[in-house]
Amino acid sequence: MVTIKSKSEIEKMREAARIANLAQKNIEKAIRPGISTLELDKIAEKTMKENGAYPAEKGYPSGIKGIPDFPAAICASVNDNIIHGIPSKYTILKEGDIVSIDLVACKDGFNGDCARTYPVGKISNQAQKLIEVTEQAFYEGMKFARKGFRLGDVSHAIGEYVNKNGFSVLREFEGHGIGREMHEDPAVPNYGKAGRGIRLEPGMTLAVEPMVIAGSPDMIEGDDGWSIWTYDGSLSAHYENTILITEKEPEILTLA
Ligand code: MG
Repeated sequence: MVTIKSKSEIEKMREAARIANLAQKNIEKAIRPGISTLELDKIAEKTMKENGAYPAEKGYPSGIKGIPDFPAAICASVNDNIIHGIPSKYTILKEGDIVSIDLVACKDGFNGDCARTYPVGKISNQAQKLIEVTEQAFYEGMKFARKGFRLGDVSHAIGEYVNKNGFSVLREFEGHGIGREMHEDPAVPNYGKAGRGIRLEPGMTLAVEPMVIAGSPDMIEGDDGWSIWTYDGSLSAHYENTILITEKEPEILTLA
């Protein structure tokens, strides 16, 4: 069921989203060759706690027997690791890497979810283009994330833009509604048919998140049961914001 948030719920979403974005900003300042992804994880958790929030990804159930709950405050995914990388003191960022950080802050029962891909020092032209196309794909979706359009219009715009630029979207994972739960209806795929899907209505809150691969769209799962990798070893990037559908332009809650 797709929920329509009330005014007071939207206020709480704004606050959770603000803290999620603040955690991203603090991580961005810390990124440099030689830092571990576990250190970035600690920065995010500290930022959230200082602001009365907690990291909703920590302890998130895998839903798979034998695979433990997610152990960290953030997902930190380097290069060909597309999503759900587990932070580790052994994963040390080096010059030329790109690292995708996906995090969710929860406060007063509501969640704010955002992801960014950051360069580590000087990166290749291809990596730079991948980051830019992934971010712009989100904004292409935003042109349709408003009353009068359907969800498929958003998905279609994202996928078309990525394909046009010679990259692929990950099809097995998608964006989602968000609110009291980190993952709510509807699913928001990064590909689809224009004119299909539910009608967008003011008060809907969505996490829109292009996950883009420089090479083929195929993926493999890591041995840890969480991490998702490109099959061909090519680079990947991720860009996500929590948004509010309004009467006019969408409000991008995790950029306020
Ligand atoms: Mg996320």
